[in-house]
Amino acid sequence: MKGTIQQSLSGFYDILSDGHLYRTRARGNFRARNIKPIVGDRVEFSSDDDQHGYLLKVLPRVNELRRPPVANVEMAVVVTAVVQPTMSTNLLDRQLVALEKQGITALLYFSKTDLASDDEWSSFLPIAAGYRDAGYEVFAARDPFDQQQMQRLQKMLNGHVVTMMGQTGAGKSTLLNHLAPELNLKTGEISTALKRGRHTTRKVSLLRVGEALIADTPGFSSYEDLSISKEELPKLFPEMAKVAPNCRFRGCLHMKEPGCAVKAAVSDGIIMESRYDNYLQFQELIANRKPTYEKRRDH
Ligand code: ZN
Repeated sequence: MKGTIQQSLSGFYDILSDGHLYRTRARGNFRARNIKPIVGDRVEFSSDDDQHGYLLKVLPRVNELRRPPVANVEMAVVVTAVVQPTMSTNLLDRQLVALEKQGITALLYFSKTDLASDDEWSSFLPIAAGYRDAGYEVFAARDPFDQQQMQRLQKMLNGHVVTMMGQTGAGKSTLLNHLAPELNLKTGEISTALKRGRHTTRKVSLLRVGEALIADTPGFSSYEDLSISKEELPKLFPEMAKVAPNCRFRGCLHMKEPGCAVKAAVSDGIIMESRYDNYLQFQELIANRKPTYEKRRDH
């Protein structure tokens, strides 16, 4: 049988397969082969009943995040409040760069849209449109829990291992509660529960939301955790990567070079000015970064 590890706890692996959960233990020499099964892993297993099965094989991983360890994260919901606190496109763009670097599809969910005044709403609309034009899926209904919007989001998440990103207070738990009321998460407490689990019983689990499996912490906090070179950064802004072949110089970094198609697209209003400004700021951060040795994060 095939399935996905939803929870790992004290040597047991709970595997979700066709809507059923099977408790298994690892059989075979995983340790000797230096493979540790983690949540999100697609696996092969055998099972006589739902309590006594054996995990037999871990299938190749698409990617692997740490802290907490989750495999095969293909999608992330980036939750950003449009007000309270004031929206920061800088933070959002940092998160998007980090996700692009990991090869994870970002879905942009804007929260607290119902709390924005009419003025705040009209200045927000072009921002939402800009991200849509940049190629991102955007969820920005005036009613943040608009039924159609919730259905569209759930449909996109189904069948995937998903991570939630967003500032404290942006409304990650509230969103999850609307998607899956049966989870009954207390606002602001999902991360605490996971942390406590990790330190005492080493429990890592994914939340089952519809047909999606959701990790509430992303495994990295922002792009500063990732080593990105100045040549790599422009590739992590999809709308810049798209027009870059038209730049006069190969390897154009879209900064001071003449004949730059990206700068032209910014002037023409095709690329958002805020995105370009953030890009320049990230380039500066990369240029000023002190060389560091790769830190080991394993326990
Ligand atoms: Zn350029």
